[in-house]
Amino acid sequence: MGALDVRGLLRDRGDDLDRWARTINPQFARVLRTIGFDRTWERAEGAYLWDADGKRYLDLLGGFGMYNVGRNNPRVRAALVEALELETPGSVQMGATALPGLLAEALLARTPPRLERVLFTSSGTEAVEAALKLGRAATGRSRVLSADHGFHGLTLGSLSANANVEFTARFGPLLPGFERVPFGDLEALETQLRREDVALFLVEPVQGKGVNLPPPGYLEGVQALCRRYGTLFCVDEVQTGFGRTGTMFAFEHWGLEPDLVPVAKSLSGGYVPVGALLMSRAVHEAVFDSMENAFSHGSTFAPNELAMVAGLATLHELDEQRLVERSARLGAKLLELTRPLVDELEVVRDVRGLGLLWAIEFGEPRSGRLSWRMIEKMQPGLFAQLVVVPLFSEHRILSQVAGHRMAVLKALPPLVVTDEDVERFVEALSATVARAQRMPSSLTRFALTAAGMR
Ligand code: PMP
Repeated sequence: MGALDVRGLLRDRGDDLDRWARTINPQFARVLRTIGFDRTWERAEGAYLWDADGKRYLDLLGGFGMYNVGRNNPRVRAALVEALELETPGSVQMGATALPGLLAEALLARTPPRLERVLFTSSGTEAVEAALKLGRAATGRSRVLSADHGFHGLTLGSLSANANVEFTARFGPLLPGFERVPFGDLEALETQLRREDVALFLVEPVQGKGVNLPPPGYLEGVQALCRRYGTLFCVDEVQTGFGRTGTMFAFEHWGLEPDLVPVAKSLSGGYVPVGALLMSRAVHEAVFDSMENAFSHGSTFAPNELAMVAGLATLHELDEQRLVERSARLGAKLLELTRPLVDELEVVRDVRGLGLLWAIEFGEPRSGRLSWRMIEKMQPGLFAQLVVVPLFSEHRILSQVAGHRMAVLKALPPLVVTDEDVERFVEALSATVARAQRMPSSLTRFALTAAGMR
């Protein structure tokens, strides 16, 4: 009688995708098979994944942005192992232990002085939920504004602020009091804020769906309007935090001082679920205003000690390996190498990014309009799949379409990618887009299958 034999379990496991299809999600298994992403995954390190045939793949998806310090980062792992061996007290619940306070302090040391308190969660959407609840209670207002195309998570509160119908349809009624304004439009925002009944404005500094950058002056203007009308300014850094955009937090690009900042994803080093809501002291004190209200919001697992160690080790790693600077440098290089594609390839409409959050957008080419229209008619945005699929199957590069029905391909690799990785991606991308632009019959056949997937 001993511990679970993990190695043996994995060795004798049989087909992963079949088991997923039986026990987790058969439709997801169908998707993977249709687009040819049905590999058996064995191992990962840094910005690479290996399949069962020993083939190496470059990961430009980074677990949707949770592997900023690289997959299986050995130093984060060592810290976790050490913490396990120390047999730390864990969650006493009616007690305060060392690690949550240390991580809270480390987070606040890296953010503007306006942020003074941390509420831990176990995911991004939970950190957003906390912002919604605390924002309402702190202001005594109920309305919540968010931006068109915004994404903030999939639990009901966050979903109510979500602008993407493909996520919201079928799950209504959503929470009352939620409305959206166009991203980048200060006038529309002011029209709403003027009523002085909006608790918070929730916005991603760079929108994840589509990788939309804010117009110059927009976020600074938002902050000024929020202050003027007594609305809390909530900057969702769940995807953009921890070096993704070339600064520790994206709000630094515009010198912002938000009242509420949900974070998650890469804070965990990719190992342990962890999220947090960073907030001003005013917000916190308005909600947790008496001993009776000391437990007004929280969750059993939230300041889990392994999560706290993963967070501390991740912040340490970002600093030690200078990964934030690396993200800025390699992001600039990726933009510089891909910008010329707008002129070189008719089908490329735009290339944009900030740090290592990058996207290429496709649009109808002057020649070959018929095939483009045919493909768009099957499913808007399908052209981007015609690039994502061969990038994976022929070049072993894992990327994604930036959102439902969007002809945008997005990359958010671990920040440990190398110059060579970036160069290899750009070469593979140019060749793949050039070929997809010609719409060869093999691709059209694939498009037909993919479009029929529903
Ligand atoms: N906010 C943003 C900006 C996100 O990108 C995401 C996840 N993609 C979330 C919130 C939700 O985070 P989680 O998936 O951890 O719930």
